[in-house]
Amino acid sequence: MTIEDVSASTDPYRLPRHVIPTRYELRLEPDLAAATFLGHEAITVMVSQATKAILLNAVDLVIESAEVERQDGSAFKASIEMEPQTQRARLTFGESITPGDWQVHLTFHGKLNDKLRGFYRSTYKDASGATQTLAATQFEATDARRAFPCWDEPAFKAVFATTLVIDPQLTAVSNTSVISETIENNKKVLRFAETIKMSTYLVAFVVGRIEATPPRFVGKTPLRLWTVPGKQPLTPFGHDIAVASLAFFEDYYGVPYPGDKLDLLAIPDFASGAMENLGAITFRETALLVDQRTGTHAELERIADVVAHENAHMWFGDLVTMSWWNGLWLNEAFATFMEMLAVDAWKPAWKRWESFAVARAAAFSVDGLVSTRPIEYPVHAPKDADAMFDILTYEKGASVLRMLEQHIGPTVFRDGVRQYLRAHAYGNADTKDLWTALGAVAQQPVPELMDGWIFQPGFPLITAEVQGNQLRLSQRRFTYITEASTAGQLWHIPVRIRLSIGGRTEHRKLLLTERETNINLPVGVTSILVNEGGHGFYRVRYQGMLLQQLLDQGLERLAAIERFILVSDAWATTVAGIMPLVDYLQLIAHFKSERDKNVWAVLLESFSFLNRIISPEDRPALEAFVRSSVGPAVDELGWEPKPGESDLIRQLRGDLLSTLGRLGNDPEIQRQAAERYQQYRKDPAIIDVNIVPALVAILAYTGDEVRYNEFSERYRNAQTPQEERRYLFALAAFHPKELVGRTLASTINGEIRTQDAPFIVGSLMVNVYGREQAWGFVKSNWDQMDKLFPKQGLRRMCGGIVGLATPELERDVRQFFTDRKIDLGGKTLEQYLEQLCVAVSFRERERTTLHTTLPNALKD
Ligand SMILES: [Zn+2]
Repeated sequence: MTIEDVSASTDPYRLPRHVIPTRYELRLEPDLAAATFLGHEAITVMVSQATKAILLNAVDLVIESAEVERQDGSAFKASIEMEPQTQRARLTFGESITPGDWQVHLTFHGKLNDKLRGFYRSTYKDASGATQTLAATQFEATDARRAFPCWDEPAFKAVFATTLVIDPQLTAVSNTSVISETIENNKKVLRFAETIKMSTYLVAFVVGRIEATPPRFVGKTPLRLWTVPGKQPLTPFGHDIAVASLAFFEDYYGVPYPGDKLDLLAIPDFASGAMENLGAITFRETALLVDQRTGTHAELERIADVVAHENAHMWFGDLVTMSWWNGLWLNEAFATFMEMLAVDAWKPAWKRWESFAVARAAAFSVDGLVSTRPIEYPVHAPKDADAMFDILTYEKGASVLRMLEQHIGPTVFRDGVRQYLRAHAYGNADTKDLWTALGAVAQQPVPELMDGWIFQPGFPLITAEVQGNQLRLSQRRFTYITEASTAGQLWHIPVRIRLSIGGRTEHRKLLLTERETNINLPVGVTSILVNEGGHGFYRVRYQGMLLQQLLDQGLERLAAIERFILVSDAWATTVAGIMPLVDYLQLIAHFKSERDKNVWAVLLESFSFLNRIISPEDRPALEAFVRSSVGPAVDELGWEPKPGESDLIRQLRGDLLSTLGRLGNDPEIQRQAAERYQQYRKDPAIIDVNIVPALVAILAYTGDEVRYNEFSERYRNAQTPQEERRYLFALAAFHPKELVGRTLASTINGEIRTQDAPFIVGSLMVNVYGREQAWGFVKSNWDQMDKLFPKQGLRRMCGGIVGLATPELERDVRQFFTDRKIDLGGKTLEQYLEQLCVAVSFRERERTTLHTTLPNALKD
């Protein structure tokens, strides 16, 4: 691999290329009680140009000594200068270091921090109630430099040989197997095998009282799950999907797993969902551990997704890595795409690609903003890449990969991926390298096709219209707010069309590259469906009679994903002011006999949106509307699962009951929920697990202080991470002001972990009964939250402002963020503010319909 030459003097974010590390011999000695660590490293470097200075990354570390040594024994001591601004250490020598191989010896020390990044502390209560500490790492994107001085850029791949010196009663895990364990000076010394050549952000260590499952083998690879003591019974499900997906990927990629073992570790405090450290993947507990008997379908699916996603990264990300952070999107988009493939292969009955449509719709809702961004954009400072960890990277990215896969064919796509991995193994690559590999195998101009989706912001709206015996398709960018600057964009859109001609169907495939195109129609066409199969990353607007014809021929003739898209596109165009709300309400009246969980997800989401914007005096009409929409399905499904029923129907039952009891404010459902919850507390086995979240949510919605105290106690003594999360979020759903106040207070007084607290505040901001209080709380406690919460948590919390959907609150929100000059990274804040503006405009535009039409919408 050749590393491109970047001039160090002009770019404060890139290290000079005349000294390149090839191997780190790293020894770390953490003291968990004192929250400190000592370190020593010997880094083998290749010097290509004589130099008197070596620059590397380090921050919040004290480097005590530094010297370089050559094989012939010549050694020079360095003077050390820390440059906190650029997070670098500058080692300066009295004389020139000549070209060749050298070893840099460094001794240093640092603190185990509480900010969930770098080398940090996590605490938990053990069975006796005593607080225990463990130390863990989270390095992506640029926090390896907080644990040891290093060349902390993804292109500086090197081999790591790690030694951890720990208390004898503790255990430690790192990227590779332990090759020796000895006792020195009353300390346990664990030496780990050399890693493959890899990037610094993938290095990991976890130290504490942790326990492992026995290994299960995929080929020669032993695969174990690690937990804090007492949680081993929660590992079998995660273990199953870990084994299944690892085997799936070895087969799909056609390359063996690149590590010598694979450990999956559940960490009590963890900022994101999980992290793909090679051979030592770390997770927050809810993303790995579950009691299979009490986990809902949604909770199990979440674990399957995250585990498969991280395993997919072992090749795509770890074996082949982006050259710089602008390529981060491909890493994440690809792992998200592969996660779907693997979970779909493991549990076909879950119809994972269909539920992926819900995630795709969420990406559309951000990508429809004028303030969206292209999937890939130039990244100068690594912190600019932090804003890439969003829905556009993961869900839009995965959606356009799926569209490409379907366009060129799954086998061709897989072969292209194999070629890419083989060509760049142990090295770095850019987005264009993948397109080149896929294009070569597909013998198609893949880069031209993909450029529009990757480097342009937004996505197209296709308008379909029949003129004479032709179907005219035209494209323009979809936006919620009209803006002239978006007018000129075009995409290369793979379009699939299904024509119904009486009882017969015909299919059309085309690549729409122009502003518009006309397709000749056969005689006797009775209906036309655009985006057949639902893989396209675009929305469709049917003109004239086209929508009515689809409804007339019967919704049952559409696949579930096509019905999903019909509703989802209609709702998006309604929010954008293209379709009147009245028309949307008429459309969804056709969906009373719908029984697909995902179609319902978009319907329920539109009800929640209306609930956020409606005036309090009109809310009873909305509640009645929700009852008449959801009621028939609930009447039919009942409270109890029927023999042989699918997991998806069970999940749907829970989702519908939850909506009917809360948004529908149905007193009979609320009464029954209380009764059934009572039974559940006596004997959990009586109640289907998939309705338990609905019971908890409904009781919180109607709950008083007694219930609050009960749930708060259940949260503190929860038996599984899922139960803990369920009761925790329930605490954000009570209405009485005093209870909202208690929940808010517990987000900053240490009662709720900082990994969760910002999500609770965000959840309160979208709760119409708590939002003003929550917003007031955020304003008065901003500085403390900024100090306390992990960065990405704070950013997600601010997403809650989209719930503050009144003109008065919107003004206040804008004022606050302007006055405080708050920057959430990238375009994050702009996007939240635009979403808020879209909601408030909708409220003004549809005021009459909400006030007068809604109460009668379902009467006919
Ligand atoms: Zn990922």
